[in-house]
Amino acid sequence: MAFENLSERLQKALRNLTGKGKISEEDINAASREIRLALLEADVNFKVVKDFIKTIKKRALGAEVQESLTPGQQVIKIVDEELTKMMGETAVPLNKAPHVPTIIMMVGLQGTGKTTTVGKLANRLMKTENARPFLIAGDVYRPAAIDQLKQIGDQLKVPVYTEPGEKNVPKIVEDGLAEAKKHHNDYVIIDTAGRLEIDEPLMKELEEVKAVAHPDNILLVVDAMTGQAATGVAKGFDDRLDVTGVILTKLDGDTRGGAALSIRAVTGKPILFTGQGEKLTDLDVFHPDRMASRILGMGDMLSLIEKAQQDYDAKEAEKVAEKMRANTFDFNDFIDQLEQVQKMGPLDEIMKMIPGFANNPQLKNFSIDEKQIAHTKAIVYSMTPEERENENLLNPSRRRRIAAGSGVPIVEVNRMIKEFKTAKEMMSKVTKGNFKDLQNLPGM
Ligand code: GDP
Repeated sequence: MAFENLSERLQKALRNLTGKGKISEEDINAASREIRLALLEADVNFKVVKDFIKTIKKRALGAEVQESLTPGQQVIKIVDEELTKMMGETAVPLNKAPHVPTIIMMVGLQGTGKTTTVGKLANRLMKTENARPFLIAGDVYRPAAIDQLKQIGDQLKVPVYTEPGEKNVPKIVEDGLAEAKKHHNDYVIIDTAGRLEIDEPLMKELEEVKAVAHPDNILLVVDAMTGQAATGVAKGFDDRLDVTGVILTKLDGDTRGGAALSIRAVTGKPILFTGQGEKLTDLDVFHPDRMASRILGMGDMLSLIEKAQQDYDAKEAEKVAEKMRANTFDFNDFIDQLEQVQKMGPLDEIMKMIPGFANNPQLKNFSIDEKQIAHTKAIVYSMTPEERENENLLNPSRRRRIAAGSGVPIVEVNRMIKEFKTAKEMMSKVTKGNFKDLQNLPGM
């Protein structure tokens, strides 16, 4: 995953501060040195690092005292805030045209994921806004690029405008736009040619396309794997085209993170979206604050809290906690909980947002088998009301009946009941403040 090393190092630098009742100037200097090295190693632009460290030190030394936080937590908060600022503070939306269509011109070097991202963006607009996008194939030098875009169009059932044999890209774009206007499409996304590096003919062509298309958005697609070099490329494109924003692709890969961290500071242009995989659904809105928390290993707490607020009933949760304390938690409560949590989304995704889970190398391959959850539910639904309230009734013949009723093998039924009993026992101890046996909890 992206940022793994950076995360580990930053967390290590900050770990030494937590728990300290008082922090000396020397502590802050030591942590700053570590943070500086971690950022440089992640390939963050050196000037960006320098400014960052200066601000951190100044703020940490002059620490705004907040009673709810320990000094160590305060420094972490400062680092979190500055990291967020470095990446642009808040999420930035696409510019919308006052009249349809809103025009998006995509630019970027070859291989960065431009054509794929055209498809991802179209898909996203369809899903989130019910939009009817229209795509224009403006990369005439690579026939494969046109075919690729057509395939994406077929997959999404979105029109793709091409002019076979035509080499005049501004003309294609003009004709394509006329076509989109005729059909009242609300978004036009223009795919343009890329080169291995910035060259004059390409820049000239892109300037001409810009002049005929009057795009509301010029989005530069940048490959996060190229690290800091990406900021130089971004500057090159921006100087000529005045891009409105950046899409950072391949953040799912093993990137050190430098591009994501420096691009905003170096170009002043916001990152709007990130590509997180090869599928057309793998495009996310970029939230600098959430990314910062994720890097610092605080998990994506904000997203989790938001999700929880939307979907989780606090009173219900308190009731359950009370049952755990009183050791009266039964299979009915268990199923309720399972459903509450499932409402929040795929469990793997939720787990990733929890601090300690995110970025924990030992949990890298951790996944939750949704099929197993379905089995668990089937088992509980095959119990009688009395059995759900009292797990001790579940003798072998009842278990056989449940296995037959739920279609789940008896060994799995036995395992599930055993795990439920152990978990219940542990929960009761934990809620009473006895943590000693916690390490025996299944899955811990
Ligand atoms: P273009 O030359 O800029 O149009 O690049 P393409 O759209 O053809 O993409 C180049 C390669 O990068 C393809 O194999 C894509 O599947 C892959 N790709 C694009 N975006 C992502 C991403 O966010 N993550 C990963 N892992 N691969 C991506």
